[in-house]
Amino acid sequence: MNNYICITCGTQYPASAEAPAHCPICEDDRQYINVAGQQWTTLADLRREHTNILAAIEPGLTGIRSQPSFAIGQQAHLIQTEAGNVLWDCVSLIDDATVGEIKALGGIQAIASSHPHMYGSMIEWSQAFNAPIYLHGDNRPWVMRPDEAIRYWEGETQALLPGLTLVRCGGHFPGSSVLHWAGGAGGRGALFTGDTIMVVSDRRYVSFMYSYPNLIPLNASAVQRIVAAVEPYAFERLHAAWDGRIVEADAKAAVRRSAERYIAHIRE
Ligand SMILES: [Zn+2]
Ligand SMILES: [Zn+2]
Repeated sequence: MNNYICITCGTQYPASAEAPAHCPICEDDRQYINVAGQQWTTLADLRREHTNILAAIEPGLTGIRSQPSFAIGQQAHLIQTEAGNVLWDCVSLIDDATVGEIKALGGIQAIASSHPHMYGSMIEWSQAFNAPIYLHGDNRPWVMRPDEAIRYWEGETQALLPGLTLVRCGGHFPGSSVLHWAGGAGGRGALFTGDTIMVVSDRRYVSFMYSYPNLIPLNASAVQRIVAAVEPYAFERLHAAWDGRIVEADAKAAVRRSAERYIAHIRE
């Protein structure tokens, strides 16, 4: 039996004797099926071919990504606070070296994730650190490997630990969520957005899409809902789910002006 992992989206599946026939995450119109056809790997194979890189981003914040890049190549974030450490989003690879490095940073007390493209091998991570996983209940249909460690939250916000709040934004997925860290950016606040709010090549701006690989935009009201959801929170810095995709300064204003620009372009 193996917990197969889709090589295109990085999602790990329940244990099975043979690889699953389909990946519903990739068959969804926000993703795509590998041009070479549906292909699978396992954690054992990933461990032979890839390692994880842990890189300090700012005090109390570490990026975790796999090298060479795997699937959509995202970066998870470990946020260290006095109340405990949180893993925000996930990657598919976990190995002894990664677990050792993270234990040296205080381990993981809670895992939370923005949306199904970032779930990776989250159950393996949960088991390695004995940490619960917080997911928005609206994303439950896209959880491919259900587990008792998952705690579904409902509504618009969920306190995770003191100073760490999950905020549902919707848009990309109905339960697409962001994480607000009040103590981030030297106490000026940081927002972790996955790709619910995506930092674009011009780092003074962000964007908002239903599908990034297939370039399907959101409508104006969905974009306005995202901006309104994060409006109550102070954040100087914004971290999307890829290495270097950071709005360094005045990120809240960047979200506002990006939304105005976006809506101007999609309206007649
Ligand atoms: Zn997939
Ligand atoms: Zn996504």
